[in-house]
Amino acid sequence: MSRYWNSRVKNISPYVPGEQPRDRKFIKLNTNENPYPPSPKVIKAIQEAANERLRLYPDPQCTELREAVARRYVVKSEQVFAGNGSDEILAFAFAAFFESSGGSQNEPILFPDITYSFYPVYADLWDIPYRTILVGEDFSINIADYKIPSGGVVFPNPNAPTGIPLPLSDVFSLAEYLEKLDKVLIVDEAYVAYGAESAVPLINKHGNILTVHTLSKSSSLAGLRGGYAIGNSELIEGLCRVRDCFNSYTVDRLALAGAEAAVSDAAYYDEINRRIVATRERVTKILTNDGFIVLPSAANFIFIKAPTKTSAAKSEPCIGGADLMAALRERGILVRHFNKNRIADYLRVSIGTDEEMDAFLKACTAIIGNIGNTK
Ligand SMILES: *Cc1c(COP(=O)(O)O)cnc(C)c1O
Repeated sequence: MSRYWNSRVKNISPYVPGEQPRDRKFIKLNTNENPYPPSPKVIKAIQEAANERLRLYPDPQCTELREAVARRYVVKSEQVFAGNGSDEILAFAFAAFFESSGGSQNEPILFPDITYSFYPVYADLWDIPYRTILVGEDFSINIADYKIPSGGVVFPNPNAPTGIPLPLSDVFSLAEYLEKLDKVLIVDEAYVAYGAESAVPLINKHGNILTVHTLSKSSSLAGLRGGYAIGNSELIEGLCRVRDCFNSYTVDRLALAGAEAAVSDAAYYDEINRRIVATRERVTKILTNDGFIVLPSAANFIFIKAPTKTSAAKSEPCIGGADLMAALRERGILVRHFNKNRIADYLRVSIGTDEEMDAFLKACTAIIGNIGNTK
C-alpha cells in the first residue's frame, strides 16, 4: 500500500496470472498455452516484417488483419475489431458497453460465479456494478437465470475454468432477451476452437452480440499478444472510441504481420487443435476410469477432482486441489488451482502433447496410486 495510490488502485484486487517460471524446466499445464508451435507462415511473416519500416507507426485500424478475419468468418471488416490480446478487448468492451455506478442506469451486469476471474477486475476498474449468478451443481450455466433486468451479460463459451460448453440456442435466446433491454451480450470465445459452437453466425441477426477471440490459445501465439472481436459495426465503433481514448496503436507491426498469417492459415491450426482434442479425450477416459471427476470439456484444458476416499463421505477427494497441485509441482508439472468457494478441490489442467500428458498421468499415479491402470 502506498500513500501515492489513488483510492481506485488501493481498493482493487488485480487479476493474478498463472506462473511463468524462468528458472527450472517445468511441464507447463497451467496457463492453457498451445503445446504445438505457431504455423511456420507466422514466423516467416514476423521475420519479414522486422525491417526498417519499424520506425513508422503501425496501421491504427489494423486493416489487413481485420480483412483476414472477415474472410475467415465470412463477415464484413467493419464487423471486426483487432486488439492487443483479448484481455485488452474485454477491458475496452466493459468500458464501452456496461454502465458505471455513476451512470443513469444502475442495473448490475451479470456473469457466472465460476468463470474467468478477469471479469470482476474489469468491472471494479471501471466501477461497473455486477452480480454473479450461481452455476448449477454440475457447474453448467442455466440460461434462464440470466433473463432478468441487468446492465448486460458476459461469459466465456465454453466456460472457464470448467470447460463446459453452452448450446448456441441458449446464446441466441439470451441475446434476444437482452436486445429488448438494449443490452450487450459479450461471448468470450477464447476456447471455441475445441468443440463449442461459435456465436459469430448470430451477429447479423442480433446486433447486441460481441464475440471475443484470442490468438493466445488455439493459434499458439500467447507470446505475440493478439485478439479480435466480431459483432455489429456499431459495437465495433464503440470499441474504437474507447481504444482511441487510450492508445491508438495497440497492435504493433510485428504482431499485425504474425496475426494476419495465423488467421489465414486455418488448415495448419485445425490440424494441431484436432490433435489437442484427441489427447483431451484420451486423458479424460483414463482419469475417469481411475475414479477422477472430469467435467465434460470443450476446451484445451480439463477441470478435475481426485478420486473419492474409500472410507470418507461421498464427494470428498483423497487429496485436495492445493495439495495435488503442490505434489505435481514437486514432480516438475505445473497446473492451476483456484482457491475459491465450490472449486477448491479441483485443478485445471491444460492439455499438452501426448508425452506431456503421459508424464502428468504418471505423476498422478505416483501421488495417488493406480492411475493409468485401466481396470
Ligand atoms: C486466455 C483467456 C483470454 C485472453 O487471453 P489473451 O491472451 O489476453 O488474448 C480471455 N478469456 C479467457 C476466458 C481466457 O481464458
